[in-house]
Amino acid sequence: MDLAEEILKLKKEKRAVILAHNYQRPEIQDIADYVGDSIELSRKAMEEKNAEIIVFSAVDFMAESAAILNPNKKVLLPTLGARCPMAQMLTVEEIKRVKKLHPNTPLVLYVNTLAVSKAECDICCTSANATKIVESLNADTVLFGPDRNLAEYVQRKTGKQIIPVPEWGFCPTHLLFQPEDVQLLKMQHPDAKVIVHPECTHEMQKTADFVGSTSQMCVYAKKTNAKTFIVGTEEGLLHRLRKDNPDKKFILAYDGAICPNMKLNTLDRLYTALKEEKNVIKVPEPVASQARKALKRMFEING
Ligand code: SF4
Repeated sequence: MDLAEEILKLKKEKRAVILAHNYQRPEIQDIADYVGDSIELSRKAMEEKNAEIIVFSAVDFMAESAAILNPNKKVLLPTLGARCPMAQMLTVEEIKRVKKLHPNTPLVLYVNTLAVSKAECDICCTSANATKIVESLNADTVLFGPDRNLAEYVQRKTGKQIIPVPEWGFCPTHLLFQPEDVQLLKMQHPDAKVIVHPECTHEMQKTADFVGSTSQMCVYAKKTNAKTFIVGTEEGLLHRLRKDNPDKKFILAYDGAICPNMKLNTLDRLYTALKEEKNVIKVPEPVASQARKALKRMFEING
């Protein structure tokens, strides 16, 4: 029996569900029960009433969100060292400092934050619903973190004043994309549509036919007639795009756009975590209950 089969057998025995983020290695996506973005996956985890264990193949903040939203399930992260550097960029001290400067301004935090940060905010958002969440607030000025590119994207879309917290937060992987690379690829594939994540720079977003989250990119690629797409997000998404659209061609806008943290998870590590039920992600109360409120407010607005 190969490792993938061993994992599937173990999963059944332990009544586990395997969730894999869109940026996971292809072999992990292929054995997962669900592949998606962080919030799609947390929702799936909540719907899986019979599951006792959730193996969340992704990075720290996503497993934390699953643990917050599923307090009665055991949430396992295949690799404890899989930590998102952008989430680490926002500290509670920085949040408190900025809140003092802007006492009556709501704070919206991207789900790519640690639970202790989420516990300090008014409402969470994803890259798919950030504009809608900010528009729903009765405020012309909004504090937003930790991704500066997403903050600026939301400012352009809503016309509200967005104050980034911290001023300089970024995703190191999405920052690697350059408009010059897209221009070169467009010369080779003039009919290609360019699809880009809002964590990319504004210059990069300007090259795009479509800017959106990973799940929105999947919908766009499916419904658009184009046969070729130049993709500006982490390379793991291309596996899902190719599987969903076997007749279409997907080209990564920059070959090196690989998130090393996401790629720390391997089949081997996933197997060991599930077998030994180790790397359990726990979020202590009251941090969990405060963060849960911020996530649930988002679900109330976004359905
Ligand atoms: S792709 Fe960027 S935001 Fe996503 S986990 Fe990696 S570093 Fe964090």
